Amino acid sequence: MTKTNLPLDADRLWADVMALAEITDPARPYTRRSFTPLFLEGRTWLARRFADAGLATRIDTAGNLIGRIEGTNPALGVIAIGSHSDTVPAGGRFDGIAGVATGLEIVRALRDAGIRPRHTIEIIDFLAEEPSEYGLSCVGSRGITGSLDDKMLDLREPGGEKLRDALRRVGGDPDQLDLAKRDDIRAFLELHIEQGIVLESQSLDVGVVTSIVGIRRIEIVFQGEADHAGTTPMSLRHDALVAAADTVTSVRRVAEQLAAEGPDYFVATVGILNVDPSASNIVPGRCRLIVGARALRSCPMARRSLATQIRAQRCDEVRAIWGLPRPICRAGQVMMQRS
Ligand SMILES: [Zn+2]
Repeated sequence: MTKTNLPLDADRLWADVMALAEITDPARPYTRRSFTPLFLEGRTWLARRFADAGLATRIDTAGNLIGRIEGTNPALGVIAIGSHSDTVPAGGRFDGIAGVATGLEIVRALRDAGIRPRHTIEIIDFLAEEPSEYGLSCVGSRGITGSLDDKMLDLREPGGEKLRDALRRVGGDPDQLDLAKRDDIRAFLELHIEQGIVLESQSLDVGVVTSIVGIRRIEIVFQGEADHAGTTPMSLRHDALVAAADTVTSVRRVAEQLAAEGPDYFVATVGILNVDPSASNIVPGRCRLIVGARALRSCPMARRSLATQIRAQRCDEVRAIWGLPRPICRAGQVMMQRS
């Protein structure tokens, strides 16, 4: 007997994605930031669609929206399918929601074909996958893996609300996070749009993720001396921005070298650069930058190379106080299991 793919209703799937896209900040399409009224409106809409598809729908204590269809053999565990319905500002119509809507469509296609799967299937809309106003991303999946700790729950958004209170507000329960922890998920599937241009540039329909890069973000503060830019001779300046600028180009150079040497993926960039006091007639006294690096394996060579560059700049330019590089984000790389 030949096996054929179950047909999905592409029009129904497209209609879902477009309908959710309508729930957006009108001033900034397509934006649905986690924990906002718009996010909750989107979730209410999604929960209704889950229920319409016959899914038993709930929000777990980590704030994930979950729709479930029982398999004929529950002992086999759960196949989870999902992604996220929150967006970054102006994140677009597909990032995240394509994965949730496709999961929903898979369940509907099974139902339409009269198939009851052996495994239980869950469709999961993970809470706050994107970086949130509380300075944390992947809030819901941290809950499911048991790594959402008290320190994280005490993070506050600029208005002062704690993440633990926001979690309660969206239907979670920070006091019972143990209930969100899962050990029954046997496989996880996520359809996601490409967030680069590799597949598109090669006219490929799909790529299969074999690994997830590790991420490091490192804050470096350069402390020079803020002096008058007119009366301070060049030989007496301690210009923090000049040191920072050298580091920016060093990061680029090291990243290009490592990427070219291969075989593993490596990228790094300086995305934040704050100059203080940032006035046209003052030599910059303080400069803060954040290096973001992503690699398939931990890269001691990159660390050594960057550290050497930074030490050199310390001698040349910043003769005053030096802020040591401080890691502010650390996420390990993960290789996918083949099955
Ligand atoms: Zn996404």
